[in-house]
Amino acid sequence: MDGDTIAAISTAVGPGGISVVRVSGPDAFAIAEMVAGIRPPDCASFPFARFAHFRNPVEGVAADNGILIFFKAPRSYTGEDVVEFQGHGGRMPSSLVLAAVLAAGARQADPGEFTRRAFLNGKIDLARAEAVMDFIGAASLRAAAAAREQLEGALSAKVGAIYEAIVSVEADVEHLLDFEEGEIGDSFLLDALARCRAALSETEALLATWRTGTMLREGALVVICGKPNAGKSSLLNALLGRDRAIVSPVAGTTRDAIEEPFQVEGVPVRLVDTAGLRSGAGDIEAEGIARAEALVERAAVAVEVIDATAPSWRGDTAAALGKGRVAALNKIDAAAPEAAIDAAGIGAVAISAKTGAGLDSLLGAIAARLDLLPEGEGEVAVSERHRRCLAEARGQLVEAVASLEYGGDGLVPAASSLATAARALGEITGRVWSGDLLDSIFSRFCVGK
Ligand code: GDP
Repeated sequence: MDGDTIAAISTAVGPGGISVVRVSGPDAFAIAEMVAGIRPPDCASFPFARFAHFRNPVEGVAADNGILIFFKAPRSYTGEDVVEFQGHGGRMPSSLVLAAVLAAGARQADPGEFTRRAFLNGKIDLARAEAVMDFIGAASLRAAAAAREQLEGALSAKVGAIYEAIVSVEADVEHLLDFEEGEIGDSFLLDALARCRAALSETEALLATWRTGTMLREGALVVICGKPNAGKSSLLNALLGRDRAIVSPVAGTTRDAIEEPFQVEGVPVRLVDTAGLRSGAGDIEAEGIARAEALVERAAVAVEVIDATAPSWRGDTAAALGKGRVAALNKIDAAAPEAAIDAAGIGAVAISAKTGAGLDSLLGAIAARLDLLPEGEGEVAVSERHRRCLAEARGQLVEAVASLEYGGDGLVPAASSLATAARALGEITGRVWSGDLLDSIFSRFCVGK
């Protein structure tokens, strides 16, 4: 536990009903007394709340008034004594209260420092601490649900179980090392092997959630592409339900790609319209096409918009089909009646950005191409950091299995692989940690969390 007392504005700065300045550390209660003239009585039951006037103890001027909430260690977010000053929302009131507690001796907290202390004081493990930011930053209901599960320990429980299993096999393998080659029964080796294989398959199952986890955290890139005037901007506007992109009957001036946050079946999506990138002439057009192609390359799903009223639509549709691609045959309202039937036959989705026809089917087709794991109770979807730890553990478990298959001579390398695998998994929950690891995790947090 750090010895000093930290403070920060914990609510978003700006107009709002209330703002919260959080203070944590051994001097939190003394600071509250200096600023608000209140100390919880000895008989207080915690959390303890009181209305008070807040003053800057150095300048002697009023800062704000509001509610003080006292949390006694260890029953607080950080595990330390904590006081929360609830004042008026807005930039000035919260700044004045923060200035008052800093004047009373607190230090401005670093990003994520409250949660870092919660981890260091054993209030939450690392995977749960990381989920705090995932939850705050969640851009869709499913992303929020997954973050909340992780916050409540779903990932920690799974990783913890694999960790325990590995440590117990490792202990048994170390124990077998004390015996002579001939004394070790086959059944011991086979049992250790079976347990290693089980740990390996559970590790692989967690690794398989990474793609979903990354999309839930970062959003899936869905790029709308296609020939000029196919209706890309109209489609973006129709999906968003508002006019975001410029729609024009003439292939017009070059502008940047437009990116908008969106959701497809609960998955956060970064929807990009490449319309402006293709128009223009000469070098500018070539540059635009190159940029559009680069976006399509990076996309989780590319939606190729095809004009159903253009004579070339069949060929364009055939060319647009492929993995991670959706062919959207647009302007179906103005096309020949057989176009919609033919479109279905060749795997395209018939839509009209103008009337809204077929947009639900289009979203379904995009969701299917995202190829996410089905959503379930207690969803676990790991992050990039978790993936690296799990991949290291998987590699070591594969080695441990190979060593044990070798028999008695493989026991020494198996024990070492198992120890490394356990260490890698331990980094997920923070059984194993370093200052650098904590810095890299908590520096991405907001101040005040
Ligand atoms: P972009 O260049 O691909 O972005 O195409 P726009 O969205 O600017 O649309 C080009 C033209 O097609 C505009 O005149 C639109 O009004 C028209 N358009 C787009 N979608 C539809 C549609 O579903 N039906 C019809 N009839 N016209 C459409």
